[in-house]
Amino acid sequence: MLLPIPIRLDGKVYDVVDIKQPTARDVANARMEVDRGDAHLAMMEWAIGCVREIQTLTGEAISELKDIRRAMRVCPYQSAIIISAYGRVEMTKDDGIESSSKCPKCGRKNIFSQRDIDGEIVDRRDHLKSLGVIYVQNAEPFDFPLEYPITIIRETKDGRDDLEVQSITMNWPTLADCSKGYASAKAEPAFAENYTYANALVSVNGEEVSASFKATYGRLIFDKMLASDVMRLSDKMLSVGIESNVTRVCEHCGDSWDEQVNVMGFFASGLRGK
Ligand SMILES: [Zn+2]
Repeated sequence: MLLPIPIRLDGKVYDVVDIKQPTARDVANARMEVDRGDAHLAMMEWAIGCVREIQTLTGEAISELKDIRRAMRVCPYQSAIIISAYGRVEMTKDDGIESSSKCPKCGRKNIFSQRDIDGEIVDRRDHLKSLGVIYVQNAEPFDFPLEYPITIIRETKDGRDDLEVQSITMNWPTLADCSKGYASAKAEPAFAENYTYANALVSVNGEEVSASFKATYGRLIFDKMLASDVMRLSDKMLSVGIESNVTRVCEHCGDSWDEQVNVMGFFASGLRGK
């Protein structure tokens, strides 16, 4: 299955990812990361296993495992989730996503599964292929001007050198950025996202930042950012990926409500071999 997912590797943009089902070894590699407690690297191993090759529109292709591994390290995590979920469909040939939820009005449980009721198959599951997908349009970094600039206080050997941050440029965060971000935030998990964003930082006020700047000030930029700017950035991140919002109707009282389909859970169920 071909998906229009852009990946920038070695200065070139590959536009198409050919999806396959993972091998037993890929699944074992992913399980090993689960055992180590790293869900992001688990998904990365799974996603690596789901890629047969990546191609440019002009027909150049990469299919060596070591290169696909490099490609998945720079692939935006939103794209990696799409690859992982569709790889799961290649494996089971079934895109049904089971879930259950409590009706907010009557409090009774609704089970969205496939059941045999009096000899008739009733399928209440969500289906991956019927969920919309918004692909990352290009694999280039994006500019994010702050509506409310912030000031980072820097102490240098010559005294204070404050930096007013007016705009930042970021890569779409990768699974590797997430993995590193969550590891850095082990003692303060609520800040994992800010560490993740810091890993994806490319430049500040149009000037490229060094690895040591990112390590020292990167996370502070996202800590200090005002809530409305954080919300705009979060909207930007959510503007791509699988559209997982669905409307539920309670089978007991007929009330309806919106919720998110658990696409990550769908991928994880593939890991358990179900
Ligand atoms: Zn109800």
